[in-house]
Amino acid sequence: MWTTLNVRTHEHFEMIDITREIEKLVKKSGVKSGRCVVYVPHTTAAVTINENADPSVKRDILHELSKVIPWNDEYTHMEGNSAAHILSTLVGVSELLPIEEGHLLLGTWQGVYFCEFDGPRSRKVLISVVED
Ligand code: ZN
Repeated sequence: MWTTLNVRTHEHFEMIDITREIEKLVKKSGVKSGRCVVYVPHTTAAVTINENADPSVKRDILHELSKVIPWNDEYTHMEGNSAAHILSTLVGVSELLPIEEGHLLLGTWQGVYFCEFDGPRSRKVLISVVED
């Protein structure tokens, strides 16, 4: 079974911490040991896991990604958002998280981030909690 998490983004490029929302769904599921699949059904967004302590990490990730894949280049895609499509593929649209003792087994500094590459928009994240 999949649960939809609605995410409203406010910037063109943005990383939004969705760890707490995912933790809530894990708790609601009652699963003590298992796995949680987080899937982004979009072609210009992604999901990743990284540091949630210092916000400058988010800023640096987005800043460097936009240098690797610049918004304006010799792209042919008519919609004009090829960079967002490429970033979605590079960062990836799914993550698999371990669950132990009813909680996400994340490292001390890890958080789950929805990555917006062509916002602002209304987005969806699909989440499935599976018991071992
Ligand atoms: Zn496009």
